[in-house]
Amino acid sequence: MQNNHSKWMTLSIVALLALCVLLFSALVMQSAGTQSNDVIGEQQKSDKIYNWKLVTTWPKKYPGLGLAPENFAKLVGELSQGQLNIKVYGANEIVPALGVFGAVSSGSVEMGHSAAYYWKGKIPAAPFFTSVPFGMNVQELNGWLHYGGGLDLWREVYAPFNLIPFAGGNTGVQMGGWFNKEINSIADIQGLKMRIPGLGGEVFTRAGGTAVNIPGGELYTSLQSGVIDATEWVGPYNDLAFGFHEIAKYYYYPGWHEPGPTLEFIVNKDAYQSLPPQLQQIISVAARTINQDMLDEYTASNNGALEELIKKHKVDVRPFPKDVTEKFKQASFEIYEEMAPKDPVFNKVYQSYKQYMDGARKYHKISEEAYYEIR
Ligand code: CA
Repeated sequence: MQNNHSKWMTLSIVALLALCVLLFSALVMQSAGTQSNDVIGEQQKSDKIYNWKLVTTWPKKYPGLGLAPENFAKLVGELSQGQLNIKVYGANEIVPALGVFGAVSSGSVEMGHSAAYYWKGKIPAAPFFTSVPFGMNVQELNGWLHYGGGLDLWREVYAPFNLIPFAGGNTGVQMGGWFNKEINSIADIQGLKMRIPGLGGEVFTRAGGTAVNIPGGELYTSLQSGVIDATEWVGPYNDLAFGFHEIAKYYYYPGWHEPGPTLEFIVNKDAYQSLPPQLQQIISVAARTINQDMLDEYTASNNGALEELIKKHKVDVRPFPKDVTEKFKQASFEIYEEMAPKDPVFNKVYQSYKQYMDGARKYHKISEEAYYEIR
């Protein structure tokens, strides 16, 4: 009995061991097979050439705004050694100026360059990622986006649209705009028809004006023909290129409504995920580079353009009267506080933005502002 029993035991152990060896070999073979397939897959993937389309809201190669996506495409091409080729299209070449969001969201093109505040009809919180009246300047906004959770919120807000946003350039503080009527007090804003997009437009309307949104390419004729009484655009560098000084008398400052707007690169999420990780990284690095580069271009170009507007074209450059900017400021915060309880996404972004701005302003009071005062 005992002999039979130990024989059974021995046989069972041998059988079990044999089974283990078989299973182990099968696993090793399978894993080796998978590994070699992966290597081949990776090889094929990394050799693949990607040809992308990037649509923009700006006229083709327009100074600053239109050059940023061109510079981005060039940089991505160089960094990827020709593996990711991006062709840039100006407004209306394949989609309308304000059709960028929809085209990239649907995947009909892979990328876009525009500004989040144009989409406030779809996403009320979107203007915080560009610029809001009496909001953060470029330095503060970049700090919030990249070190204060702003970009994460932006991605969360764009996720339902299958879009991944990146900060894509900044103009710095803009000008208040071109007016065909003297503004001496808030009474002169009443009934005035002005092209002013985003939340700035809502503030302008609350202060008694009428805000309209017209793409940049149509502004000159709209102002010339009297469809609008005033328009904001960007600042001396861009405004000189559009020739607004030929058709408007007064150039008011500062751009209370856009104190440092961030532009956006948006990428279709499926297109982004189809890229190997090193190309995804190149997009991110190139966007961050262009985000700073565009600001540098504006900083270097605005002074000369302002001088030309004043000396050569005799433009009347004026500050807004204090009661006008005070009314605009009051209306701005009234609107934020009214919108916050109505839209949870708006509220979430607003609270983060406001908290960051309150902190940044305290330090900038004794650093940036204090320095501007004494230099
Ligand atoms: Ca503007």
